[in-house]
Amino acid sequence: MSEAKIILEEKEIPRAWYNIQADMPEPPSPPLNSVTQQPTVPDDLAAIFPPDLIAQEASRERWIEIPGEVLEIYRLWRPTPLHRAHRLEQALQTPAQIYYKYEGVSPAGSHKPNTAVAQAYYNKKAGIKRLTTETGAGQWGSALSIACRFFGLECTVYMVRVSYNQKPYRRSFMEVYGAQVIPSPSAETAAGRKVLADHPDSPGSLGIAISEAVEDAVQHGDANYSLGSVLNHVLLHQSVIGLEAKAQMAKADLYPDVVIACHGGGSNFAGLAFPFLQDKFQGKEVRAVAVEPTACPTLTRGQYLYDFGDTAGLTPLIRMYTLGHDFIPPGIHAGGLRYHGAASLVSKLYHDGYIEAQAYGQTEVFQSALLFAQTEGILPAPEAAHAIHAAVVEAAAAREAGEKRVILFNLSGHGHFDLTAYDDYLENKLNNITFSPEMQAESKKTIPKVE
Ligand SMILES: *Cc1c(COP(=O)(O)O)cnc(C)c1O
Repeated sequence: MSEAKIILEEKEIPRAWYNIQADMPEPPSPPLNSVTQQPTVPDDLAAIFPPDLIAQEASRERWIEIPGEVLEIYRLWRPTPLHRAHRLEQALQTPAQIYYKYEGVSPAGSHKPNTAVAQAYYNKKAGIKRLTTETGAGQWGSALSIACRFFGLECTVYMVRVSYNQKPYRRSFMEVYGAQVIPSPSAETAAGRKVLADHPDSPGSLGIAISEAVEDAVQHGDANYSLGSVLNHVLLHQSVIGLEAKAQMAKADLYPDVVIACHGGGSNFAGLAFPFLQDKFQGKEVRAVAVEPTACPTLTRGQYLYDFGDTAGLTPLIRMYTLGHDFIPPGIHAGGLRYHGAASLVSKLYHDGYIEAQAYGQTEVFQSALLFAQTEGILPAPEAAHAIHAAVVEAAAAREAGEKRVILFNLSGHGHFDLTAYDDYLENKLNNITFSPEMQAESKKTIPKVE
């Protein structure tokens, strides 16, 4: 039997991030200033982001060096292991080989510190004292809280209310690192107060929480805003996942036929898939599959249009697959996948046919999550369980076709904070709300018109 884990040494942590913008056959449409509808200029972003991150956002350099201070912190948990899912393969009776890159070994339990650490570093370097952010399921807020602590920054986290109520220990976790956690919508900001006036019981959404965090940063000169996904620089930082995975697969003399990751805003998908797409642009055959919930099917059911990244319309206009910036997805347990849009880079690649997307309901996803926990031992985050389910479906297809496909998926985080979700599944209380034609009609109404 071949190895169960492929491990890299510390000195094999990548020294540079991979920037897919250098290799895309066509660049994505530029973000637009929401007032002038002209491409944004660096000044448009200077109120909320530091210069280095603004530069990375638009960079066409293929490799961007990882600062030594960031590598020092990456070393606490990177390189992350690549596992071979022998026991899952046996349970599925599949000839496929299933590998997974496990990002749950980070202090936050997910891939998110890969960018949180980099963002805190560049903000500190720019003289910023405090970072504001939103968090859905709590993973991003946790990652940024830790990163801010490492670099001596204060941290204010607007947490989507449904998650705040479902996951009280997430709040405690962030507070351990010194963050201030506020349930969103809140009365602290104009954006929050407006939502509360119309919907006092609003479960909140990532879009609303982003509006609150951006407003807070814009109004305070020594504070910047930090986003956990979607933006080009976030996807860039996550490329360490795929770069390591490529080196690990190479050690086993393998190359994946298909790479799979769940898709919320696109960062863990991009992190794993983009370094493999670099090869695909040069003719290599590899499929990349983004997996989303049927309750928030941004790629599979959204439209490729210019829209806002947040509910209140404070961000630039971004051309992306969107369900409408004021679409509030049903309160499914994979809180990190409840975002109305998709990263501009992922959207462009999907539109141009370089990647695929699939959507699954939460009952089938949790079924695969339990199978995975019971065979491989790791309790997955509900978000990551979407990737597991897609890998299970792929392995079944390989069995039908009698093919030894090599499947690689991203296990983006563990589910130790998600036991309420598992309780609901075990007690048969999961809803299987999907995106209805009525929701679709409603969500389209407020997408702005761009000529
Ligand atoms: C945040 C999160 C996601 C979804 O976000 P992406 O930006 O799409 O990666 C997926 N899995 C885990 C564990 C997360 O914390």
